[in-house]
Amino acid sequence: MNIILLGPPGAGKGTQAKMLVDEQNMTQLSTGDMLRAARSSGTEMGKKVAAVMDRGELVTDEIVIGLIEEQLTMERDTAGFIFDGFPRTLAQADALANLLEKVGQKLDGVIEMRVDDQALTRRITGRYSCGNCGAVYHDETRPAPNGVCEVCNSTAMKRRADDTEEALRTRLMAYYKETAPLIGYYYAKKQLETINGLGEIAEVKERIANAMTP
Ligand code: AMP
Repeated sequence: MNIILLGPPGAGKGTQAKMLVDEQNMTQLSTGDMLRAARSSGTEMGKKVAAVMDRGELVTDEIVIGLIEEQLTMERDTAGFIFDGFPRTLAQADALANLLEKVGQKLDGVIEMRVDDQALTRRITGRYSCGNCGAVYHDETRPAPNGVCEVCNSTAMKRRADDTEEALRTRLMAYYKETAPLIGYYYAKKQLETINGLGEIAEVKERIANAMTP
């Protein structure tokens, strides 16, 4: 089953995708993670996108479509793909449909995670993660006990450079301008399920599971 998790920054797409990976053997394809990996390994492309990402703007369609194409054509044993943070523009949505067709796959559904802007700001400005395993924490709602990761015991915590209030404003604007039109696009294709993204992680997880049940 191949699904898109659609929603603004801080909606919880990455957190929920990681649980689907752990529990259902699905594969998370996060363009944000791929771009951050390219940055930290210092590739030419990583250098090119760094400033754009830190400002909270979108990188070009060409780059992210190329990244997704590379991943989709890799052989792997998976129960399906979870697209997290992709597509973010109508051009990316069209490209995804073509790429899936090319590899003999199809999109089974799009889950829109709705969260109001106030909650997004609280979530984003307090969040940090384990630099070793990627487990996600939050200053108020889920602090790492004594700064130690509960999953792997690492103390290497990190915050994203674009998780500031200023970059978040730009990211939200990009979402409403470029990505929100995808809600209408997938609704018209009868592929959209909208869920409430507020609440406990487990509650949201259950809503996603229900939305994924045909
Ligand atoms: P994310 O981790 O999904 O919040 O993405 C972090 C940043 O990476 C975004 O603010 C963009 O600068 C860039 N990015 C990630 N995915 C895309 C995409 N599909 N299209 C354009 N830019 C993206």
